[in-house]
Amino acid sequence: MTVVSARMRQVKLSPSVAARIILNQLREEGRRIIDMTIGEPDFATPDHISKAAIDAIMRGDTKYPLSQGTVALRKAAALRISLDTGLEYPLDQIIVSTGAKQVLYNALTATLEAGDEVIIPAPYWVSYPDMVELSGGVPVTLLTQAASQYKITPDALRAAITPKTKWLMLNAPSNPSGTVYDLAELAALADVLRDHPHVWIMTDDIYARLTFDGGPAPHILQAAPDLADRTLAVNGVSKCYAMTGWRIGYGSGPKDLIKAMAVVQSQSTSGACTISQAAATAALNGPQDCVEDFARSFKERRDLALTILADAPGLNAVSPDGAFYIFPDCSALLGSTAPDGSVIATDADLVQYILRKTGVALLDGMSYGVPGTFRLSFASAPDEVREGCEAIKSVCKELA
Ligand code: PLP
Repeated sequence: MTVVSARMRQVKLSPSVAARIILNQLREEGRRIIDMTIGEPDFATPDHISKAAIDAIMRGDTKYPLSQGTVALRKAAALRISLDTGLEYPLDQIIVSTGAKQVLYNALTATLEAGDEVIIPAPYWVSYPDMVELSGGVPVTLLTQAASQYKITPDALRAAITPKTKWLMLNAPSNPSGTVYDLAELAALADVLRDHPHVWIMTDDIYARLTFDGGPAPHILQAAPDLADRTLAVNGVSKCYAMTGWRIGYGSGPKDLIKAMAVVQSQSTSGACTISQAAATAALNGPQDCVEDFARSFKERRDLALTILADAPGLNAVSPDGAFYIFPDCSALLGSTAPDGSVIATDADLVQYILRKTGVALLDGMSYGVPGTFRLSFASAPDEVREGCEAIKSVCKELA
């Protein structure tokens, strides 16, 4: 008999966390690993941000925080949110949490009744379906196609909506595909959503400023500000300020929703770390050129990776418009055999073979809801991106 609840037994460890455990084991055994699973920039947190944290410690900003987030950080977030969405949010409509992940989790916990459906376009960030299940909801996968750059269409969205739909999750640029929607595409999705007033929209904007073709990714609230009364916009400092370990995210939405999320938070973590909040305030209020520098550097790494992978037989990679991942289709390689006799039947087989053979670590596409694909992160240093992609290419060349 297990102490673990039936609800919890349905939920798996995040695949990226699981990969990290295996990679650490391999490293301890002395293997050299090129980690292309990792969802974090290799840059250091900019100095002015770290200094704000040190100042916070020295001035004694080390007591319990206001559970919903410090006033200073919520003010800074309000300014940022108005630039990103075009809308002004008062401070009681903004919550700061321990990473964007906890904003998402608080929202699902605060709103889902047993059996409520959440539409999740696939490929999706690995945590969405499990977070929905943890909150008693039912994840409904909406599969998209590489041929349409992994975008959901208005017709597909309409077909996926049922009377039980509570939320539509939108994540652009997407982890793992890097897909960005333009304003017209968002307006077309908004038209469908207007016909279904019971459906709420959760936008995960964590990569919105890490785009490659000028300007942040368009936001559905810019296309359809009238949907603000049923939209939660989620963002954070992890990715665009190289602050993954500081664990600060924020959300903006209707007052009732934010209030319920704040109750969840007050009964779980009591709020995010004060020192990290001071750092995040400095990040949002301070000079923003670091974000542009990071995005420029990621674009160079994307181009480097795509150039190498273009010569890898059997791979078909859509060029991402943002974030720092490539999500190649490898279905043409399934059914092949490696020189050592290994049969590559699934994307997981391919990923495991590449790791065994070359030490390059990737994540299988099944974890992202799309079999026959895998995800590689190009957030690591350019030399590693080059070496990793060359190794993937060499494996593809020897499969028959
Ligand atoms: N949303 C997406 C799409 C992500 O890829 C990630 C991290 O990988 C997160 C949210 C989590 O962000 P945070 O570090 O702010 O919790």
